[in-house]
Amino acid sequence: MTSATADIPTQSTADVPVPAVAGRALRVPLVTGGSTEYANLDHAASAPCLDSVREAVDELLPWYASVHRGAGLASQVCTRVYEGARQVLRDFVGARRTDSVVFTRNTTDALNLLARALPRGTSVVVPETEHHAALLPWSGPRVRRIAAPASPADAVAALDAALAECPEGPRLAVISGASNVTGELWPVAELARVARRHGARTVLDAAQLAPHRPVRMTELDVDHVALSGHKLYAPFGAGALVGRADWLNAAEPHLAGGGATRRVTERAVSWTTGPERHEAGSPNTVGVHALAEACRTLGARWADVVAHEEALLRRLRAGLRGVPGLRELCLFDADHERVGVVSFTVDGQDPGLLAAALSAEHGIGVRDGLFCAHLATRRLLSRAGSGAERALRASIGLGTTAEHVDRLVSALRTLVAEGP
Ligand code: PLP
Repeated sequence: MTSATADIPTQSTADVPVPAVAGRALRVPLVTGGSTEYANLDHAASAPCLDSVREAVDELLPWYASVHRGAGLASQVCTRVYEGARQVLRDFVGARRTDSVVFTRNTTDALNLLARALPRGTSVVVPETEHHAALLPWSGPRVRRIAAPASPADAVAALDAALAECPEGPRLAVISGASNVTGELWPVAELARVARRHGARTVLDAAQLAPHRPVRMTELDVDHVALSGHKLYAPFGAGALVGRADWLNAAEPHLAGGGATRRVTERAVSWTTGPERHEAGSPNTVGVHALAEACRTLGARWADVVAHEEALLRRLRAGLRGVPGLRELCLFDADHERVGVVSFTVDGQDPGLLAAALSAEHGIGVRDGLFCAHLATRRLLSRAGSGAERALRASIGLGTTAEHVDRLVSALRTLVAEGP
């Protein structure tokens, strides 16, 4: 490590014991020769699998069988595992006892499911700063977009004003837990309180929040929560929509097919109610089991998870502040509470080239672009006074070490010193 990291706080993160993840020792080749340990600083996109999850999957695989429909023991085991996971998810997000848990592919799938289940004439209020998964599923004349707020208080006031203008009828406010661009936490409880005052329901996009902080639906008083397993240290392919069941039970099935039906005759189909209505086809039992195990592991270790991330995030942001020309993107302000996601540009440097050099020369994985939040990222680039059209994003999680963070800071300093 170069002396360039001298101004980085020295507090150690190594002494916070956190659940282990796969890939810690992954080695990647460098263009400069040799290889190095991979520094995965892209946890916000997908987080590496927890060891506990991998073990749980290994345990289930010999029992691989269809759920719900088989009489054999393996089918019974898989059915129990799959159905049991619903309660694990309910506990993980602090849901009401009566809330339904529909297993989906991911957050995008969950939010699209809810969008299709909205009662006719529902007004939807959604901040333009949302990830596309939460911004785009809603369509029609009753969708209102809120401009990017400058502060949490602005966000609450803007929702209040937008809901006041909604016509009579059902209403839904879309709320983000944490920004996938800046990591900043949204004032979820305050937004939900305002929504409730206007008789609106709320859906919380917890894709970025759930891996980093406990979500308590009842305390926050939100009606629906969407999340993705692959951001929660489980493999791809399983997510969930947790929340009130009435709209879902009245909606057309998400997919038409086996498992969602009550009775099929030559002339008519009657669909079942409950989560199965929206889970037609053979479900992703292994993925759901993995997701549930990730929820169990994180749910038992929140204090360690948060302490680890906060220490690394402080270290990362302090280090980045010392990189010449670096501008951090912020929605609210630099001191606002956030999870381990930092987006930035460096004056005079192309974000794509920087990201490529970080990977090829330093073995560091970051992301560059607009992060599936084009409106938000462009707005934040302009607020930061950056001339760039894209940004770089470094995001940390359980697989991150202090060395990864220091290596990023040091590499950026080196690349900046070399010039564009
Ligand atoms: N919402 C936020 C805040 C996200 O960061 C993401 C993914 O990056 C999503 C929703 C969509 O998640 P998925 O791609 O798993 O559907």
